[in-house]
Amino acid sequence: MTKHFPISTAHACEPVANDPRWARVVARDRSVDGKFWYSVATTGIYCRPSCPSRAANPKNVQIHTTLAQARATGFRPCKRCNPDGPSAEQEYASIVAHACRRIELGDGELSLAGLARGSGLSAGHFHRIFKTVTGVTPKHYASARRAARLREGLSRSNTPSRRRSMMQASIPAGGSTPSRPTCSA
Ligand SMILES: [Zn+2]
Repeated sequence: MTKHFPISTAHACEPVANDPRWARVVARDRSVDGKFWYSVATTGIYCRPSCPSRAANPKNVQIHTTLAQARATGFRPCKRCNPDGPSAEQEYASIVAHACRRIELGDGELSLAGLARGSGLSAGHFHRIFKTVTGVTPKHYASARRAARLREGLSRSNTPSRRRSMMQASIPAGGSTPSRPTCSA
């Protein structure tokens, strides 16, 4: 059980407004999510840097380098940015990884709507996120995978050793006549 205790927000020596991390909060920079958290004394909540809420007055803000420190304030986690959960970027990355696996394993054509349904996102939102993470659309990804599978299949059946062994199998040893097994009584 963690003991919660309020921490003083007064840091006379180093105002939060001058902290370069505060600029990341003001910019709602998602790339620093998970690197630090901040709490707001006036609202009694703590947030991740990219929180979409209105920016607080830095005078009331304290920056925490770990989630445990943010929790130790005794404040509540913000409902808007869910600072305790995985960041949106982490969630999107796992959604896209899951969709890629489905595309790779899928025999039939997977529709965009079908892929999006599994992710809990709208088809349009899913499409945008997939493209942001992979650099290609789900359709391009699927056709690239199909082409790769085809290439793999061709190169496997065209390897010299396989061709040679197939030829050897079709030519009976010591003769050039077509191989038809003969029954000798
Ligand atoms: Zn928040």
